[in-house]
Amino acid sequence: MATGETNGVAKMETGTMLEVVGKEATPPHVVIVGGGFAGLYAAKALADQPVRVTLVDRRNHHLFQPLLYQVATAVLSPADIAQPIRAILRDQPNATVLLAEVEAIDAERREVVLDEGRLPFDYLLLAAGASHAYFGHDEWEPFAPGLKSLEDATEIRRRILVAFEEAERTTDPARRADLMTFVVVGGGPTGVEMAGAIAEIARYALAEDFQRIDPTKARVILLEAADRLLLAFPASLAQKAERELTRLGVEVRFQSAVTAIEPGVVHVGEEAIAAGAVMWAAGVRASPLGRTLGGEVDRAGRVIVAPDLSAPGHPEIFVLGDLASAKDAKGKPLPGTAPVAIQQGRATAANIQRRLAGQPTQPFHYQDRGNMATIGRNSAVADIKGLRLSGLLAWLAWAMIHVFALIGFRNRLVVSIQWIYSYLTYQRGARLITETAAKRAAVEAAAAASPLSTRAGD
Ligand SMILES: Cc1cc2nc3c(=O)[nH]c(=O)nc-3n(C[C@H](O)[C@H](O)[C@H](O)COP(=O)(O)OP(=O)(O)OC[C@H]3O[C@@H](n4cnc5c(N)ncnc54)[C@H](O)[C@@H]3O)c2cc1C
Repeated sequence: MATGETNGVAKMETGTMLEVVGKEATPPHVVIVGGGFAGLYAAKALADQPVRVTLVDRRNHHLFQPLLYQVATAVLSPADIAQPIRAILRDQPNATVLLAEVEAIDAERREVVLDEGRLPFDYLLLAAGASHAYFGHDEWEPFAPGLKSLEDATEIRRRILVAFEEAERTTDPARRADLMTFVVVGGGPTGVEMAGAIAEIARYALAEDFQRIDPTKARVILLEAADRLLLAFPASLAQKAERELTRLGVEVRFQSAVTAIEPGVVHVGEEAIAAGAVMWAAGVRASPLGRTLGGEVDRAGRVIVAPDLSAPGHPEIFVLGDLASAKDAKGKPLPGTAPVAIQQGRATAANIQRRLAGQPTQPFHYQDRGNMATIGRNSAVADIKGLRLSGLLAWLAWAMIHVFALIGFRNRLVVSIQWIYSYLTYQRGARLITETAAKRAAVEAAAAASPLSTRAGD
């Protein structure tokens, strides 16, 4: 039974088998799991190839994760950094988009197991990404959310804004001080960006808006287990980032591994830090789909891939992006970044083209163009092929690269306008708390009753 038609490609459902067939011949079927950087750029690179592409994602949008922290800190709105996958691939006749949860990969039968039905493939590109890791303490997640999805970002935004509102309401000075303390766990790029952005909201955007509290007195504490920030950056840039954060008023603490988290309290050894909101930016865990391939995975659950990114023993399956454990020419593990994912997506599309032409695949070589992290207004650090930048120049480079990397003219325009507005006025355009206190209390009560029931990872 035909169930629909998208881009000239009819979807056929036979029992539990979901098949996607072209109108005329049936060229090889490439299934891509994940519409993030790796999956989406692979799909686009396959546009002119004689293949049928089905991109499956549990969400209907591609998300520009590098700017998520700006949604979490009220600079941008969710729609500014997300774009419907269906709209992005609208003009690609060989591509079909399916909104579905992938539950497993049946590598032997060459089928993707969906929440409803199965999807057969000739080639599979598994690009389901990663989510946060709590180092065996998933029970901390409700009290210290990580930043991975738009839901995470709006939830963190809500917690930060609600903490200030509650601080304004309370008459207890000790409780007020606790509510105006914000703890960020993890001193990598996301932790640094979050800590800097929260300090900026408190010192600028909220400074004049309250009668009883002085938001500029808010404490922002960044906890890092190692003895420096930004481990992927040269030490000199990490020190500059630390100095900039300190200038913004962030308390940067090293060798401060978190030992427990309860509602509103973070424990570091003997010390208990009461906080209005706690954010987790400390660990990464690959999508559980990688393990369902049955091959070797690393400690973070990433699939250890062959040099051409195929899964060992399965030349028709490629694993890309944050879900792949791949190495550069010197044997150094590739980082979980957008450029790695994008380049892997494109390289795999080229390898599929080679396979179709009867040629051998080529190993993946990463073109490393550098690392960047922003700290706040006029302040960022960048390591571009050995050229080390900091301050305003790095910040301008960061802003330009991120605007250009966004997908869609609308998003580029809106983000540019929002940034100019925030820069000139020191204001945050998206300072919205979108849930009533009563509704949230009900959700939190349910979560507290079942603290171990974790959300499905991204
Ligand atoms: C807060 C944050 C900030 C970052 N900042 C930067 C930065 O500044 N620079 C940089 O280079 N990198 C940054 N990164 C890392 C970068 O975003 C990732 O490396 C990149 O997104 C990886 O791409 P991917 O395609 O492998 O996975 P993702 O982009 O995560 O995409 C995975 C996709 O798979 C889908 N999916 C997952 N599981 C399933 C399932 N079971 N069924 C169906 N669909 C599924 C998801 O919905 C998602 O769309 C940041 C990441 C985060 C979280």
